[in-house]
Amino acid sequence: MIKIIACHKKYSLTLIILNLLFLYHSYSIFKFRVPVLLFHEVKPTATPQNQALLPKKLYNILKLIDEKGYSTMFPGDTVVFDEKKVILSFDDGTRDHFEVVMPMLNISKKQGLFFWVNQQVDALTSSQKEKLLRFSKNHRIGVHTNKHEALLTTTHSAKAIKNELMSSKHGLEGFFKYPINSFAFVKGIFDQGSAQIAQGIFDYNFTVEYDYFYPFDKGLHGRMIIFPETTLDEISRYMDSSRPHKELSFYTLCFLICFLNLMFFGLLVNKKEAA
Ligand SMILES: [Zn+2]
Repeated sequence: MIKIIACHKKYSLTLIILNLLFLYHSYSIFKFRVPVLLFHEVKPTATPQNQALLPKKLYNILKLIDEKGYSTMFPGDTVVFDEKKVILSFDDGTRDHFEVVMPMLNISKKQGLFFWVNQQVDALTSSQKEKLLRFSKNHRIGVHTNKHEALLTTTHSAKAIKNELMSSKHGLEGFFKYPINSFAFVKGIFDQGSAQIAQGIFDYNFTVEYDYFYPFDKGLHGRMIIFPETTLDEISRYMDSSRPHKELSFYTLCFLICFLNLMFFGLLVNKKEAA
């Protein structure tokens, strides 16, 4: 009898631990995440050397987004769990962004989040500036520092990092005439100190870690870098993985944990009847 009780206790404890692990896993599975694609230059003169994408490649990616039933969003937009949303982000503020990318997005009725470097805006002619303002109307701008400089507390004082981010933000807000609340770390380089400072200034902070945007999370957000060699299949898999609650492996795990619980309670009932 004592042996049976000890055995029961051991099994119940294991089952409780398994159930708790499953609940914790389910919490991460149901955490709403949005895929974020990170592009750099897109131009007809793309070569393997400049690592730019050909416009045709962007066209195919936009087509894939449509085929998969996704639509674009900005950080801060109201979203409902399980909505098929994607963020298209473009770093470095190069001329092709308003000459090639924005017109393409406008035609396909998609919106992009463009992280501009202030120096790049300053270098434009007045007609290019006018074009940028005109084509970026449906899109959103984010900060990417004044001179495309990686900010670390080992190389910059906290005050210098704060000044850099604030002046970059105010500079772009002055040009685009609306509040800017997104920031992308240059080359994805940051440390705990610089991340804390950025998070104190911007609502949405992006790295280049292979991860997602978590709309209900105040932490750093990841992205998938699109290289010229990145395939549509890889992008498709990244987008699908943003919905882990739809994957077969999760249903298999649910079935397994239910089966174990039922088996244990079945055993318990049998033992009680036998006693
Ligand atoms: Zn950059």
